[in-house]
Amino acid sequence: MAIATHAAAAVLPSNQSNSPWYTDAAATTETKTTATTPTKAKNVILFVGDGMGVSTLTAARILQGQQNGNSGEEGYLSFETFPHSALVKTYNVDAQTPDSAGTMTAMMSGVKSDAGVLGVAENIVRGDCTTVSGNELITAIELAEIKGMSTGIISTARITHATPAAAYAKSADRNWEDDGDMPTAAKEAGCEDIASQLVNFEANLEARIANSDVDGLDVVMGGGRRSFLPKDAAFNSSDALSSVEGDRTDGRDLTAEWKTRYPAGNYVFDQSSFDAVDASTASKLFGLFNESHMQYEQDRGNDVAGEPSLTQMTSKAIDILNNNSKGYLLVVESGRIDHGHHAGSAYSALTDAIELSNAVQAAVDATNPEETLIMVTADHSHVFTIAGYPKRGNPILGKVVAVGETEPTNAADGMPYTTVGYTNGLGFHDLGAETDADAVYSKGNQAGRADLGSVDTESSGFHQEALIPLGSETHAGEDISLHARGPGSQFVHGVIEQNMVFHMINQALDLLTGE
Ligand SMILES: [Zn+2]
Repeated sequence: MAIATHAAAAVLPSNQSNSPWYTDAAATTETKTTATTPTKAKNVILFVGDGMGVSTLTAARILQGQQNGNSGEEGYLSFETFPHSALVKTYNVDAQTPDSAGTMTAMMSGVKSDAGVLGVAENIVRGDCTTVSGNELITAIELAEIKGMSTGIISTARITHATPAAAYAKSADRNWEDDGDMPTAAKEAGCEDIASQLVNFEANLEARIANSDVDGLDVVMGGGRRSFLPKDAAFNSSDALSSVEGDRTDGRDLTAEWKTRYPAGNYVFDQSSFDAVDASTASKLFGLFNESHMQYEQDRGNDVAGEPSLTQMTSKAIDILNNNSKGYLLVVESGRIDHGHHAGSAYSALTDAIELSNAVQAAVDATNPEETLIMVTADHSHVFTIAGYPKRGNPILGKVVAVGETEPTNAADGMPYTTVGYTNGLGFHDLGAETDADAVYSKGNQAGRADLGSVDTESSGFHQEALIPLGSETHAGEDISLHARGPGSQFVHGVIEQNMVFHMINQALDLLTGE
């Protein structure tokens, strides 16, 4: 179709009209103006990059391009080419800068709530079990189950951690991951720990919703094995790292309970048992690949018995969930982008963001854009900045080298500085070839300036400088982005409240109407 960009070409000088910047952008404009999209979807996949603010996207996109031998700035992460996007306001009801529990509760229930609580409304008192009753919210995962769809929850964090737990649990405190984490008063008042709620999901939902008959979560994969096993070495997994892997004080082995409940299901805990699952015949898959969080993507090769990547977990989940002709709702969290930032390791945060991009691409490749809505978003941002005036193609993890220069540009204190950095946190540490960003927590606080003249700031073990000393770098309060493709994605635009994410899912799947 002819559009105005071509009509104007005759009056433009050739260095303008023939410029690839001009012709590429004109061609892209045409693709954006001809797209039409249906509104109802069979399946929805929601990807959440925990802590994946806009500066993280920009830096990850540049790092991805530079790892592929390009200048970097001109590329896109897989989901950045999706046709629809919006900016999302992330605040919690009681917090200007939010946490993952309140934000994921908003995305899963359509209702904003307080920081630190899961699947409960704002009248909850954090930490007070007696205020849970009457404040429970129903999540999109639960509604999809009631509708007869298949459901999946994946995270590289502990599966009992805030973001994944907000999809299935109701808790006055995000930290009640197992009974050993709960105050006695909460247990005596009848509150159930988060791991137990995961294994009892089917029974709890049927008890909560009259006349409902659901078959339970179909695919669950992540870390956090410790909350499912008794505090007894006899229950250690074969790849346990701690002398006693489990944390439970009530003696329950929740992995055994799950296997009893779903005898045809597959419980897996390492790469080989994951690989052995045949997705074409599997009905239920429960994977707990680490005692605590799964590894950072850059550190995954060091895992004792191996663990699958986010991309591998996403692909297997889609293959299993596809077995249900009624469709599925899959929630995928990249949990460790957030942890990399908290540790002040841009390398870790960005390499995990690139892996999320890979997982989204795998989902794009495995689904039909006419029937599957894919949304990619974050829960909140981080105080992570891209600073100074580095020249085009300057290593994103490097020191600022100005346009026309070959040597790093010194700041007013006579020392070079990095392009990316943090407003607060533990500050500069050079751990060399270390690939576990969390190793920094034993090193103490070194906020403030350091002489980086002889430091390799692009190494995996480099932790960026920070201005304000804190025990951990913090979340940030500015908006994050939402990217969407597929049926219903056209409703994603403008600046929206985070609880709108639930309503986008509900619009596409009609979760509240019958089949
Ligand atoms: Zn965080």
